Amino acid sequence: MKLKLIIALLLFQLGFSQQKTCGTDAQIQKIMSDPVAKQKYLDFQKKFNIELAKLQNPQNETARSTNATIIIPVAFHFPEIEANSPDRACLQGMAQNQVDILNDAFNATNSNIGLWTPQVQAFYPGTNLGNLNVRFVIANKNHPANMGLSNGQQAITFRKAFLNTQNGDHRDIRWKGYLNIVVKTLCCDGTTGYYTGGNPDEGNLIVLHKDAFASGSGCPGGYVPYHAWSRGRTAVHEVAHYFSVHHTWGKQPGANVCAPSNTDEVADTPQCIGTGNYWPEPGSVAGCVPGEKSLTMNYMDYTYDDTKFMFTAGQVVRMKAYYNAVANQFNTNVLSSEDFEFKDFSLYPNPNNGSFKISFTPESNEEIEIVVYDISGRNIYNKTFQNSGVFDQELQLNTISSGSYIVTIENGENKTAKRIIVE
Ligand SMILES: [Zn+2]
Repeated sequence: MKLKLIIALLLFQLGFSQQKTCGTDAQIQKIMSDPVAKQKYLDFQKKFNIELAKLQNPQNETARSTNATIIIPVAFHFPEIEANSPDRACLQGMAQNQVDILNDAFNATNSNIGLWTPQVQAFYPGTNLGNLNVRFVIANKNHPANMGLSNGQQAITFRKAFLNTQNGDHRDIRWKGYLNIVVKTLCCDGTTGYYTGGNPDEGNLIVLHKDAFASGSGCPGGYVPYHAWSRGRTAVHEVAHYFSVHHTWGKQPGANVCAPSNTDEVADTPQCIGTGNYWPEPGSVAGCVPGEKSLTMNYMDYTYDDTKFMFTAGQVVRMKAYYNAVANQFNTNVLSSEDFEFKDFSLYPNPNNGSFKISFTPESNEEIEIVVYDISGRNIYNKTFQNSGVFDQELQLNTISSGSYIVTIENGENKTAKRIIVE
């Protein structure tokens, strides 16, 4: 009995020492305490709010209906890893894994999106699933100078940038125009990640603790995903902060989470109490308003990774507004043609029931080939279309069973791949 008690206490201690915290609010508070940074932040908020108002205006059909794929060039930085470390290849693999997780989360194609069942939705009337239609790609050409990177290599640095992120130097102008993700030791208050504030043209970034990065078995040096946040969703949470999305329990640090003024400024999330670090069942945590439930499965709560699986449509509107406000700050010449994104591309709905539309503007006069693969790589649909200008076709894969599929679209030398979920 005694031994069991000691083990239980030890486990409790271990659990306590692994409390997860997001450091973004502290970063924003730091900005607000510096008059110059604060003014810049407030000026940008005005710009963001103009874009948000356009998207929220029911009369502005042009702004609201635009659904072209957003392309975000990504760069990873490992400031604690030596340039000649034998672990580089392993960490590069984790970086790609983390990007795949971001793509799944922001496009609602993550493998557990099916947990948003009608029964779960019934707890959250008025809350809709969000899908940003975005593609995060690790940049692979035209890298900043003197980084030891050549064309064709991925923008992943070791000891080359962001050496001083611990004490507030949270940007590197050499890396402007990228979504920078720094992975390092965050000591020692339980912070698993944060977004530094600022915009892409300043070389801003998100920082992840090395045990809250990607998923899988990890790499030497402590880059091993801790079980409670082992699905790479700390980065999903922090990238959403980067895109101006607040915690579901409100945006004012330290304020009463249920104060009417302390909301996340999103219409389709209930006012939440802010859940701690555990795995609550959907609908099991009360919200601030009697009868409402906290949205514990939302990426902007603190629940553990296995529990979180969705953004709402309202949160996605904030992301789009942020992107529209900074779109011209992202580099457009740092991705090779293999990662080509078709102009005005959209694939919707996704998830779908086997019927979906693909539209884009071809840049080559050649024909368009569409192939659908199942998860074991089997070709289950293959069709070539004549190119007659704007491509706009509905595909009907009527006999397809539920699951995850990859759709590749090829036009001349340009090729892209999308994951779809058939329900
Ligand atoms: Zn956060």
